[in-house]
Amino acid sequence: MIDIHCHILPGIDDGAKDWSESIQMVRKAAEQGIHTIVATPHHLNNHYENPKRKIIEIVDQLNCVLQDEKIDVNILSGQETRVYGEMVEGFERGEIQPVNGTQYVLVEFSSSHVPRYTEKLFYDLQVKGLIPVIVHPERNQELIEQPDLLYKLVQNGALTQVTAGSICGDFGKKIKSFTFQLIEANLTHFIASDAHNTRNRTFKMREAFDLIHEKYGNEMVYLFDDNAALVIEGSHIYKEVPEKIKKKKFFKIF
Ligand code: FE
Repeated sequence: MIDIHCHILPGIDDGAKDWSESIQMVRKAAEQGIHTIVATPHHLNNHYENPKRKIIEIVDQLNCVLQDEKIDVNILSGQETRVYGEMVEGFERGEIQPVNGTQYVLVEFSSSHVPRYTEKLFYDLQVKGLIPVIVHPERNQELIEQPDLLYKLVQNGALTQVTAGSICGDFGKKIKSFTFQLIEANLTHFIASDAHNTRNRTFKMREAFDLIHEKYGNEMVYLFDDNAALVIEGSHIYKEVPEKIKKKKFFKIF
């Protein structure tokens, strides 16, 4: 398996604290059957600043450590970029690191909100040849309340990635059921761990894929598996036509 979203680099965001925790996480990933991990530290916020060059440097160091430790897992460079108005300029300045240097960029919204400028920004990114991949849309309050917003972004070329833990119910029943709605409406294209440690935010990839297999069968498992392999090599991924999520009616007024 390939994990395209993971906070595995030591000491640069809220993921692994130090080298020993990074290695511990990699061992845990290997136990799950993960052989390739895209390291995606948070790019910019009040606490961190992780531009492209810094990420590539630490990924190289981690791969050397893993070689020494004889752990057969490959780490690739990526970044979880918090959406901001000047993302195109940020990319041009060399601050943004797409998934393994391809055209795919992981984009994070805050947990409550989708900025009004997103549609225009995503259009501009695509004009530059970049494809935005919205990470964990299932954990965004505004998207839960207005899934049509996500439908529109996907219809206009954005991709999305759900968290393995959401499929397993780690973030609650509401998020779990919204995650399955996204899968069924062809509104998501990747499953990734977003692992931060080996305790409360670990990989859960094996467990999530088992649930996907149980509910939808092999074909869906292959789709997510293949998409992760395609994205790291910068190839076109498999996409089905997105559908709108129908609002569940709990009671009738008349
Ligand atoms: Fe993350």
